[in-house]
Amino acid sequence: MTDEADAVVVGAGPNGLVAANILADHGWRVEVLEARDVPGGAVHSDRGVHPDFVSDTFSSFHPLAAASPTIAALDLHEFGLRWSHAPSVLAHPLADGRCATLHRGVDATAAGLAGHFGADDAAGWRRLSALWDRLDPHLVNALLSPFPPIRSGLALAARLGAADGLRFARTMTLPVRRLGEEEFSDVGATMLLAGCALHADMLPEAAPSAAFGWLLAMLGQQHGWPTPVGGAGALTEALVRRLTSKGGAVRCGTRVTSVVVRGGTALGVRTANGDAVRARRAVLADVPATTLYGGLVSWDDLPARLRDDLRRFTWDPGTFKVDWALNGPIPWTAPEAARAGTIHLAADLAELSDYAVQVASDRLPARPFLLIGQMTTADPTRSPAGTESAWAYTHVPRHVTEDLGGGLTGRWDPGEAQAYADRLETRVETFAPGFRSRIIARRILSPLALQAANANLVGGALNGGSAAIHQQLVFRPVPGSGRPPTPVRRLYLASASAHPGGGVHGACGANAARAALRVERLAVARTIRRRSAGRNGSTGRCR
Ligand SMILES: Cc1cc2nc3c(=O)[nH]c(=O)nc-3n(C[C@H](O)[C@H](O)[C@H](O)COP(=O)(O)OP(=O)(O)OC[C@H]3O[C@@H](n4cnc5c(N)ncnc54)[C@H](O)[C@@H]3O)c2cc1C
Repeated sequence: MTDEADAVVVGAGPNGLVAANILADHGWRVEVLEARDVPGGAVHSDRGVHPDFVSDTFSSFHPLAAASPTIAALDLHEFGLRWSHAPSVLAHPLADGRCATLHRGVDATAAGLAGHFGADDAAGWRRLSALWDRLDPHLVNALLSPFPPIRSGLALAARLGAADGLRFARTMTLPVRRLGEEEFSDVGATMLLAGCALHADMLPEAAPSAAFGWLLAMLGQQHGWPTPVGGAGALTEALVRRLTSKGGAVRCGTRVTSVVVRGGTALGVRTANGDAVRARRAVLADVPATTLYGGLVSWDDLPARLRDDLRRFTWDPGTFKVDWALNGPIPWTAPEAARAGTIHLAADLAELSDYAVQVASDRLPARPFLLIGQMTTADPTRSPAGTESAWAYTHVPRHVTEDLGGGLTGRWDPGEAQAYADRLETRVETFAPGFRSRIIARRILSPLALQAANANLVGGALNGGSAAIHQQLVFRPVPGSGRPPTPVRRLYLASASAHPGGGVHGACGANAARAALRVERLAVARTIRRRSAGRNGSTGRCR
């Protein structure tokens, strides 16, 4: 080994950087090794589409970071992070010209729903918002803690009591379509929740899509869906600045090729440059479970059962993204859509369901559901006044067996990528006639391009593995997990493949760092006990 640190963190994504910051706060010397030539993983921005436009290459809106107690405790504003908000959080324009809009604050959201969809939808929305308020902040704390979340779980139980607790549990197991049927009489509020559920690989007819959609919508209503002033990369810069101020280091252009394991304990890593870095206390891996197990760590050092479990690991679908530089705002037919940071595009719930089923059954949708970001609307620093830096993404099957809109194969060669980008633009044009005429430049990120840009985005997956119920909580990434330790001593899984999964919240990294600190504390306590037992013993022998 040629270099040495207390902890080596493999990968400088948000999880790796949060983990490194927490360890550095405890006085550990931390070295983060990052394969790319820039830190941040899927939290990065650039001027690659047009020199006058800042584009977020991957993630843009960070409600989970804004709500995360771990990230709040890092005081990143002291290291340059500023959040910016669009006038409204999210809009879902429908084919019939109406628009459901999520605002910061229940009154504004309910008023909008009442105006377009009637008093019943507004009343249902208020009920679901009141439930959120009742559980705040324990629900978010529970979701971001290692599983099972004992302290916040008890706090939730105390808030709800047995009878309401059961009813809450039932609501959380509902498909979002069913929740909509139970709570609303029109479609607006359901579309807000269903579109949010489809940020993960959820069918509107499957559990727990209601819980996921409700969670993301309520986070937006409480915290907004903020974006860092200047670009997503500003969040990464703040994390790196903080880490280096505490003595930590990030070494870019350094791909880790293996974790060195001796006698069941991780001792350090080897890199593609031929270096070795010794880790005196821990190795934390911000890489997918499928990269860590059987990749960086040989199967010879892992239990046979894990190999079988990992064979069943389910990836989330691929992602297809287009970034645009626009010479004007998107000319939405629904005026409310112009003020939102995020737009969900699907004509109605049936279209949303068709899309989700098609992606799940390996067919490329003819009418893809789009998530659209209007970044200059959310943060005016992103492009010159009067223009818009925008993006759209949709999910695509990992293995395309049929294209329902033409002859694409899912090879994603340049011709296919251009054709699918055209399909996304046609979708926007339907809801915003004249959109195409505003495009100055575009950049296409197919699933292949996403993976080439960040090895964690395997096949274009953005959540580090499916968020389906069979791979959540104690099943993430394999049955029996839910906590960051791995079968190798001093090695911790710190990426979105670990509970609680994808999104920029840093919880996977924080949980891994805290697990490493706990093990170290226990080891120190054991040593002290042994020493004092030894002293007592020798006194005894003297006697
Ligand atoms: C297109 C897109 C849009 C998204 N939008 C949002 C959003 O708006 N809001 C949100 O909350 N989330 C969003 N996400 C999800 C979110 O960005 C991820 O869940 C999050 O970044 C996961 O963090 P991570 O640290 O686990 O991994 P990553 O951010 O992927 O970082 C992993 C890092 O590890 C490095 N690495 C991998 N292998 C090695 C190795 N062998 N050696 C050294 N380094 C290695 C990679 O290069 C990378 O830098 C989006 C993701 C994508 C792709």
